[in-house]
Amino acid sequence: MDKRDLKSMNLAELIEEMQILGEKPFRAKQIYQWIHGKLVEDIEEMSNISGVLQKKLKETYEFTTLEMVEKQVSKVDGTAKYLFRLADGNLIESVLMEYKHGNSVCISSQAGCRMGCRFCASTIAGLKRNLLPSEMLEQVYRIQRESGERVSHIVVMGTGEPFDNYDNLLRFLYMITDENGLHISARNLTVSTCGIVPRIRQFAEENMQVTLAISLHAPNDEKRKSMMPVANKYSLEELMDACRYFFEKTGRRITFEYSLAAGVNDSGKDAEELIGLLQGMNCHVNLIPINPVQELSYAGSGKKVAEKFKNMLEKSRINVTIRREMGRDIDGACGQLRRRHEGNVGEEGTKEC
Ligand code: SAH
Repeated sequence: MDKRDLKSMNLAELIEEMQILGEKPFRAKQIYQWIHGKLVEDIEEMSNISGVLQKKLKETYEFTTLEMVEKQVSKVDGTAKYLFRLADGNLIESVLMEYKHGNSVCISSQAGCRMGCRFCASTIAGLKRNLLPSEMLEQVYRIQRESGERVSHIVVMGTGEPFDNYDNLLRFLYMITDENGLHISARNLTVSTCGIVPRIRQFAEENMQVTLAISLHAPNDEKRKSMMPVANKYSLEELMDACRYFFEKTGRRITFEYSLAAGVNDSGKDAEELIGLLQGMNCHVNLIPINPVQELSYAGSGKKVAEKFKNMLEKSRINVTIRREMGRDIDGACGQLRRRHEGNVGEEGTKEC
C-alpha cells in the first residue's frame, strides 16, 4: 500500500495521526509548523522532534517534494518560470512574478487539463491527473525557498481547472491561509475557473475572501461554445447567476478574464454585447491579448484593437485593464515550457498564464 501524504494533512488530521503513533498532540502543531511555516525540505530538519519520531514519520508517511527540472528568469522584469517534476514523472509549471504590491506565484492545479479550450496549450494532451494538496503547496514553498523572496500573493491560474480538482483545491486554500503555515491572506489569493457553475455556487458557501476569476472570453453562448466546450454544459445565464450569487455571499468582486482573439471576439459589437452582459455588476474585466499557440488557430488582437475594446467598456463605467505581459523574453507563459519538455512542441507554442 502507498504511504499516506504527510504534507497534505491539515492540523486536525495530524493531531489524530500523533494519537495513532502514541505521541503527544502538541507534536502535531510542531510538525505542521516545520512543514508549512518553516518550509523544511527534509524531516531531519525538524530539530525539536526526536530522532525516534523523525524516523517513525519517515517510515510511515510520504514527504512530497518537487524536483526542479528547469528555471528561466526574465531579464526584462525578473519573472521566473519553474518546471517541476512530480514523483510519478509528470511535469508541471509555476511562475514567480514580482509586482510593486509583492511577489505573486502562479500555480498549476492539475497535470494537464480536460476542459478543451480551443486557444489553450495546457489542454492539448489532455488531463494526466489531479495535483495533491501537497503538490500545490510545494510549488509555493519551493519557490519561496529557492528565490529567497516572501510569497505574498497566489493565483491558481496555471495548468489545469482548479474546480475540476475541487477537494484538493479547497484543502490547499485552507492550508496556505492557516496561521501555523504561510498564513497568506485569503484576499491575496485568486482562483481562476473556466466556469463550472455548481462548483462556483459550492465555493460561495465557503465564504472565503478569495478572488474568483472567471474565464469568460465571449459575450454570448454561441461564441463561447465555439471557444470553450464547457459552455455547452453551462449557459452564460447560469454562469452569470452563479457569479452574482458568489458576490452576494462573499461580497467579493468578480474578475472576468477576456482573452482577445483577432476576428473572433474583439469587435465593437462584441464589446457592446459584453457591456450588456456585465451592466450593473460589481466586477473587473481583465483583457488578455491571446497568446498564439502553434497547434491552435487563434491569433491575438493587436494593441489598437485591444485599446478600442477597453475604451468602450470604460465609457460604460466597467472597470477594465489590459493585462501586463510578464516575462516576454522567456518561455513566456504557462504551458509552453512543459510542452517543450514533453517533446510535443517547438519553441513557439505558448499560453498566457
Ligand atoms: N482553467 C482555469 C485556469 C487556468 S487558465 C481557467 O480556465 O480559468 C488561466 C487563464 O489563461 C484563463 O483565463 C485561460 O482562458 C487563459 N488562457 C489560456 N490559454 C490562453 C492563451 N493562449 N492566450 C491567452 N489566454 C489564455
